Amino acid sequence: MRLANKVAVVTGAASGIGKEIARTFAAEGAKVVIADLDLKAAQATAAELGGADKALGVAMDVTQEDQVDAGMAKVIEVFGRVDILVSNAGIQIVSPLQDFSFAKWKQMLAIHLDGAFLTTRAALRYMYKQGDGGSIIYMGSVHSKEASPLKAPYVTAKHGLIGLAKVVAKEGAAHKVRANVICPGFVRTPLVEKQIPEQAKELGISEADVVKNVMLKETVDGEFTTVQDVAAAALFFASFESNALTGQSLVVSHGWFMQ
Ligand code: NAD
Repeated sequence: MRLANKVAVVTGAASGIGKEIARTFAAEGAKVVIADLDLKAAQATAAELGGADKALGVAMDVTQEDQVDAGMAKVIEVFGRVDILVSNAGIQIVSPLQDFSFAKWKQMLAIHLDGAFLTTRAALRYMYKQGDGGSIIYMGSVHSKEASPLKAPYVTAKHGLIGLAKVVAKEGAAHKVRANVICPGFVRTPLVEKQIPEQAKELGISEADVVKNVMLKETVDGEFTTVQDVAAAALFFASFESNALTGQSLVVSHGWFMQ
């Protein structure tokens, strides 16, 4: 039980990568908060993980200051503390830059960057008061390191998370709060399933070619990364004991991007 007695808040945990992280953390003994826009799905996930004193579903739009602060206050009310934050909620919108609507650009930056800032700030306030450290994990992407066409705000925001993690690592060190970024390659979640036909349309190629020649072309073995692969990396960061591992980013992508 690598996370016994820990309380972990995972945003966007009602689906995909976040859901698997919530499962993995719960299996390692953590009390897990599934904070998601979709309250019904968050509550269903919490019930799957044992409900009541083991897992909690909380309604949270990470772009809304009041909802983030209220959600974190609820975590403290129910579980008494917060030790781990996984800032994971995210969406994807693909379009060439010249056609990108300003509203959609701002929506993307709000979810990925405002969401990371607001949840970090809310968690830090409690972690600093508790006085026994914490772990903040950002869900970056290979797009935190590398660019692809059609993804201007996503690439911009995911690069930005690395900067935020480095600042949190420096400010948090005195309080034993660590901050790190996971950078997955393509994982077959609803976020990616939606993108396959959209990219096929934008690029004028078949869906099979999007998978083979866009998503997996640069991997060493033509394989998708899995939710379990990403959850294993999250557990590694969450359970690491000292400030030796902070301000870092770890690429989990079947070699698509090599540092
Ligand atoms: P997903 O669509 O399966 O799950 C995303 C979850 O986030 C959903 O439950 C959704 O309700 C929630 N959400 C969306 N907007 C929200 C908001 N404003 N506030 C709170 N919750 C919100 O997606 P996923 O693939 O599991 O993606 C999770 C994270 O992983 C994202 O940050 C994504 O950018 C990142 N990522 C995904 C991949 C991939 O290939 N799937 C690769 C690299 C990084």
